[in-house]
Amino acid sequence: MTDPDHHAVPDSAPAPADLLIRAAAVHTLVPGEPPQRAIAVTGARITALSPAPDGLDVLIGTATEVLDAPAATVLPAFDDTHTHLILAGHSVHGVPVHQARDLAGFLGLIRERAARTPAGQWIHTTINWQEVHLAEQRMPTTEELDRATADHPVLVRRGAYNMVLNSAALRLAGITAATPAPPGGVIELDEQGRLTGRLVNKAVELVERVLPRPARTERVAGLRAASADYAATGIGTVRDCLVPVEDLDVLRAARAAGALSVRVRALVSGFAARTPEQVDALLDRMDAWRAAGEDDDLFRVWGVKFGIDGGFEAGALDEPYQGQPCYHGRLLWEPAELVAAVERVVGRGWRVGVHAWGDRGLRTLLDVFEEVLKHRPGLPPGTLVVEHGGLARADQRARAIALGIPVTVQHPLLHDGALTQQRAWGRERTAGIFPLREWLDEGALLAAGSDFPVGPYGAMVSVWGMTTRRTTTGVVGPEHAIDRAEAIALHTVDAARLVGESAERGSLRPGALADLTVWPVDPLSCPVDALRGLRPERTVVGGRTVHGTTG
Ligand SMILES: [Zn+2]
Repeated sequence: MTDPDHHAVPDSAPAPADLLIRAAAVHTLVPGEPPQRAIAVTGARITALSPAPDGLDVLIGTATEVLDAPAATVLPAFDDTHTHLILAGHSVHGVPVHQARDLAGFLGLIRERAARTPAGQWIHTTINWQEVHLAEQRMPTTEELDRATADHPVLVRRGAYNMVLNSAALRLAGITAATPAPPGGVIELDEQGRLTGRLVNKAVELVERVLPRPARTERVAGLRAASADYAATGIGTVRDCLVPVEDLDVLRAARAAGALSVRVRALVSGFAARTPEQVDALLDRMDAWRAAGEDDDLFRVWGVKFGIDGGFEAGALDEPYQGQPCYHGRLLWEPAELVAAVERVVGRGWRVGVHAWGDRGLRTLLDVFEEVLKHRPGLPPGTLVVEHGGLARADQRARAIALGIPVTVQHPLLHDGALTQQRAWGRERTAGIFPLREWLDEGALLAAGSDFPVGPYGAMVSVWGMTTRRTTTGVVGPEHAIDRAEAIALHTVDAARLVGESAERGSLRPGALADLTVWPVDPLSCPVDALRGLRPERTVVGGRTVHGTTG
């Protein structure tokens, strides 16, 4: 290297790169910077960029991998800022009922699995499906599951809070038609007072406590497969919004085994903590984790997750549900109690994400956050986050923005849930969910995610959804669409800001962590419908290729 003002300085020659990519475009997402043509990575970090394809060739050493991809586009790796990797890990080896189009297919898959599973062993399904997308638009019944197999306990699970069991499973769980439902739970009976096999909300715990606990190695294998699936779609970081505190050890074991293909930011579940003492007990465990210095770049605890209202069928609304004039959804907290809980969490230096879905839910949550900020005016920005804020009215958006509260949004959740939501809320309110155009025009900090298993995860399927507003029931609320550059920013630059890591990640610049994706076409200009199934050729996290082949 020659320093133009001085002499040749051979001993300051840069170290050779580990990976050098030449591409049609490297979109750095650094404001005002034109696309580059070459990027170099050494160790875990980006070391150089060049506007010329051969501009970094000086960095090629004997061990440098050169990826010559003259048609490809490089982008930062994506964040999924609201997802459930833990649930994906549990689900990944389940019977893949999300592929079924009708109940015959659904039951056939269970029968197939039963045929190669020793009698007496539990059979469970994947959880990322919805009955409205089956031809019959309903869940299977206990009788149907019994016909698929009587020799195995069968657990059909959808999301976290809905189950159907066959008779063998009901027996093992000790559930009869006379079993009282736990508070906040439903054990469904038919008109004759017989079990349908369906358990909802808190009632699922009756089954969870009798399920065989998977061995640690099985959990790690599940996380290995699930995190690789995320990475294969272009995601490099997941913010898991519901990690049971005891699963921090499972994630640590996965990290130690080299099983995590993506960075993990954990929101520890505060859903079971209702009293100040319970919140303190949870925080004691998190503090012990922090004191042990367990956090690193790959896996760290982000904060605590609470929920203020229900979802599609229980989000708290100002106006009643469609066809249910006395039902406005459910608030899960007394606001004053949630203020106290949030204050305990932030008082120990942790951050808080709170689920809010309906307009009344969001308004009440903003009341809570406003109260917390009144007591603690110096709270660092980004400490309090709204998760979803589904139905965000103009006055609520203005309040959130004035308070400096960022919001995570998830079009994939709307994509898969729109039909269910229309039945509960009607078309107009459903079309108003996630008003991204308004949020951005008004100056909000948003970050995007999937809310898997309710919606599918994937970098470009989310960009496609945010720009088209397509759902399984057609286009909803097209006026809320944003453009591709904005949608990509919500998964990269803005996501890193919301997570609190923009000094390290989110855009491609020398010194930043080498989290990047290589795409066969330019996602900013390819036909919009190509985005839906678009997969990266390679995903790199911290300089490590976690998806795609190394040359
Ligand atoms: Zn969620």
